[in-house]
Amino acid sequence: MQVPSHVEYERAASVEHALSLLSRPETCVLAGGHSLIPMMKLRLAQPELLVDINGLTELAFIALDAGELRIGALARHADLLDSAVAGEHFPIFGDAERVVADPIVRLWGTIGGSLCQADPSEDLSAVFAALRATAVIRRQSGDRKVPVREFHLGPYETVVGPGELLAEIRVPVRPATGSAYEKVSRRVGDWSIAAAGAVLQLQGDPGRPVIAAAGIGLTAVGAEHFVAAEAEEFLAGRAADEESFAAAAAIAAKHCHPAADQRGPEDYKRHLVAELTTRALRRAAARVRLEP
Ligand SMILES: Cc1cc2nc3c(=O)[nH]c(=O)nc-3n(C[C@H](O)[C@H](O)[C@H](O)COP(=O)(O)OP(=O)(O)OC[C@H]3O[C@@H](n4cnc5c(N)ncnc54)[C@H](O)[C@@H]3O)c2cc1C
Repeated sequence: MQVPSHVEYERAASVEHALSLLSRPETCVLAGGHSLIPMMKLRLAQPELLVDINGLTELAFIALDAGELRIGALARHADLLDSAVAGEHFPIFGDAERVVADPIVRLWGTIGGSLCQADPSEDLSAVFAALRATAVIRRQSGDRKVPVREFHLGPYETVVGPGELLAEIRVPVRPATGSAYEKVSRRVGDWSIAAAGAVLQLQGDPGRPVIAAAGIGLTAVGAEHFVAAEAEEFLAGRAADEESFAAAAAIAAKHCHPAADQRGPEDYKRHLVAELTTRALRRAAARVRLEP
């Protein structure tokens, strides 16, 4: 099927206008359209009304504010890749965005659309989960905040309900923190076979640092909420060294649930999880600036 079924179209003039349109039944937000339009062509999505939010420039920002990086839902992948402030505090964004699709998709695909699509292979879902980010969901009665780790209910399903719009994502800036993302795909610009994101907060002697807190996100391998929770728990309080990273990576590989498919068998994907988690942890630790 190549042609979407009949659909009404409205271009939102303001966030308030978008919210009032979204309160109608069978309505979908149209952001970059890179995922929604193909799904409509395949008739996997059949909304009765599309609410185009591309004119809402007030949702297209990336800014540091009161100790948080705030990313508007309409910021494009390319904006995040180019953002100096995001890159300075969270190099994991540059790592991930460089391997999200291709320049054409990155120029128009949005950060909000990526999270709301809730594809199990979406790179930024694991990145934001590793960073323990918060999603700000707007509705006519006001905003509600949801930890990204509780945002996805399952494949292609989120907590954003009828009449609601993902407005922004907030990431706390923490001292002595480093981050990194590692992905393996079949070819340049493809979705992940597997990928791992790591965020490490270190403390103590710069020569023998200890892990104060760890965040590990996994992509495309069936990790609950995109998180390797058991590996994170293992790392807390341990030395930030190769031995800890390898042991945590083995735990992450054991506890995820990859499915065999055209991208590879289950044991290959578990092998990738172990290797990519080790590499991401190693690179995240190397990026921490720990003052003596
Ligand atoms: C060829 C190709 C390759 C790709 N490769 C990768 C890849 O390697 N890694 C990766 O992570 N992604 C990849 N993507 C996906 C890309 O990141 C898309 O940009 C993303 O999936 C959807 O963003 P969008 O802005 O196009 O959303 P849309 O398609 O417009 O929307 C997607 C869904 O989110 C909803 N939505 C959008 N914005 C909001 C909002 N603010 N509030 C509430 N609901 C909202 C829509 O209603 C829809 O259900 C690829 C896409 C393509 C086409």
